[in-house]
Amino acid sequence: MKPLLEHSDFDQKKSLYALLLRELSDELGRLGFPSYRAHQVMEWLYKKRVTSWDQMLTLPLALREKLVEHYSLLLPSVVTVSGSADTTQKFLLRLADGELIETVLIPASKALQGASSNRRTLCISSQVGCAYGCRFCASGLDGFKRHLKVEEIVAQILVVEQFSNQRINNIVFMGMGEPFANFDHLLRALEIINAPWGIHLAARKITVSTSGLVPRIRDFAHRPEQIRLAISLHGASDQVRSQIMPINKRYPLAELMEACAYYVKRKKQLLTFEYILIAGVNDQLEEATRLANYAKPLRAKVNLIPYNRVEGLPWERPAEAAQQAFLHELLRHGVAATIRYQKGHDIDAACGQLRRRELLATPA
Ligand code: SF4
Repeated sequence: MKPLLEHSDFDQKKSLYALLLRELSDELGRLGFPSYRAHQVMEWLYKKRVTSWDQMLTLPLALREKLVEHYSLLLPSVVTVSGSADTTQKFLLRLADGELIETVLIPASKALQGASSNRRTLCISSQVGCAYGCRFCASGLDGFKRHLKVEEIVAQILVVEQFSNQRINNIVFMGMGEPFANFDHLLRALEIINAPWGIHLAARKITVSTSGLVPRIRDFAHRPEQIRLAISLHGASDQVRSQIMPINKRYPLAELMEACAYYVKRKKQLLTFEYILIAGVNDQLEEATRLANYAKPLRAKVNLIPYNRVEGLPWERPAEAAQQAFLHELLRHGVAATIRYQKGHDIDAACGQLRRRELLATPA
């Protein structure tokens, strides 16, 4: 039987992956269908994970025809996958307008999680490119292109699950882009990812990482969900942090820490500080002491991530002894800290590098 319509026909339509259940219910009501049909549609979409209208067998043909008329089920296409299923797989995805983004699948490290762990973490992108220009990151090297749409955020999970034939059970917004700069789309995507009618991933399995957009940290403190928040810190004095993260000039550490304290107090939820260790730049013991002074009163956990080389950037990873000395200084001050070798930007091709290579290889 011929499919109702091919995916390519839907480019200009509203994506079904951007809709909330209550919105679909209202829209179907306006089209003359009972509201329980919206539940059925979402069930096909997120529980049964079908990707074509023809597979939604419990829906009457008249409804499917209306859906075809109004909505798209278009998903990004997979351009390349590198890495291996038992280490880290990096997906380069092409969006409907031809833009490229990266999504990274990180299975649990057996050494860290125990042999029985089945954690599969997806590192999600929130923008095409990035305007924030952190000096350790390939995503910002070519500047900002555009915000990801809601459906493009949600679809990263669906596409990787489809490709790997495995369910994702942990997500981190640590891919390309600053999620808090795309705040409205982020919030809506989080609602779809967290909702029982949607992807239904528990809030505590979702981490949003920000480079430190102070007003959005305060806004996020008012969200009811217990989604985890990580701050990309990477420096514990303004002088050091501003060298690494230009955003520090706009929101210096004192302001950032005030916002963090506000968040912790209001949400009664602990934060994580991400700290990429870069040789000779931010790995001095005095910086560790300052970091401890920020982390301890907030009871923030510190993830130390030894720097991985990024093409086009000059920095180096500190020697093992310097990494351990930094860690011990934090532990000595009573801060919960660990060294992570496989997370977010620390993966072999740090976020943004795959896309960059593809862009450089493609003639304009
Ligand atoms: S680390 Fe995040 S905020 Fe900074 S440039 Fe990279 S993607 Fe942007």
